[in-house]
Amino acid sequence: MYSSDKTHVLVLTGAGISAESGIPTFRDSNGLWENHPIEEVASPQAFAKDPQKVWRFYSQRREAAFKATPNKAHYALVELEKRLGHRFLLVSQNVDDLHKRAGAKNLINLHGNLFRSRCTRCSNSYPDMAPRTMVPLCKGCGAQVRPDIVWFGETIEEGCMNRIFEFLRQSRGGKLRFIAIGTSGVVQPAASLARLIGFMGGKNYLINAEVSANGDDFHFFQKGLAGEVLPKFIEGMEL
Ligand code: NAD
Repeated sequence: MYSSDKTHVLVLTGAGISAESGIPTFRDSNGLWENHPIEEVASPQAFAKDPQKVWRFYSQRREAAFKATPNKAHYALVELEKRLGHRFLLVSQNVDDLHKRAGAKNLINLHGNLFRSRCTRCSNSYPDMAPRTMVPLCKGCGAQVRPDIVWFGETIEEGCMNRIFEFLRQSRGGKLRFIAIGTSGVVQPAASLARLIGFMGGKNYLINAEVSANGDDFHFFQKGLAGEVLPKFIEGMEL
């Protein structure tokens, strides 16, 4: 198996890294949409009950993400990836595609992608740009098509977790660093990565506007806005 005596860096991002691009975090929007709790439009139960309402919510979010552009924090991570190559992995909880548009390559979209949808019955998936007023139907089997998002109560795709574990295995024999940016540290399994990496002997860094719920699992905390703090932090990192 591949192993290295060099530094591996795993990065986890959350809604906070896209806040300076104008995309509200759940907290910014008070966890509400048109006075509904977010869970009421972001769960399989919500889709079964009122798929049109769910599509309205995601059409709005997609439009906002489409108009937004990556900020300094997204670009700083691309610079770090250029320095590290395969020793860098970016895991994002965000469903906007700002990391990809900034140029990220080793990227896992843990919670899905606003710009993709998939059939609720068969394996067909679709690139999705159009605003939806009607619930789209699958061209293959005719079943309802849903946003390709991991909703509350759903599990992360197994392949995503396997890629993360494989990356951590490859880091053995060298230094391991974990940087979490703009995440409240409450959504699992992402929120447990810091503790896992701590157990593995890695060093954990948190860059956030406030201390996160899992703040005790980090060795270093830098309070601030991602776009202001991250570029300098990455420039000063010894690899
Ligand atoms: P969250 O909204 O729960 O927390 C965001 C965190 O970022 C907060 O701790 C906040 O203090 C911090 N923050 C806000 N602005 C910041 C900035 N400029 N710089 C640094 N930190 C900042 O988000 P979460 O932890 O990602 O988890 C909630 C879920 O929200 C995820 O599943 C995610 O898919 C979803 N979400 C995604 C988007 C997106 O794709 N951009 C937007 C909203 C929610």
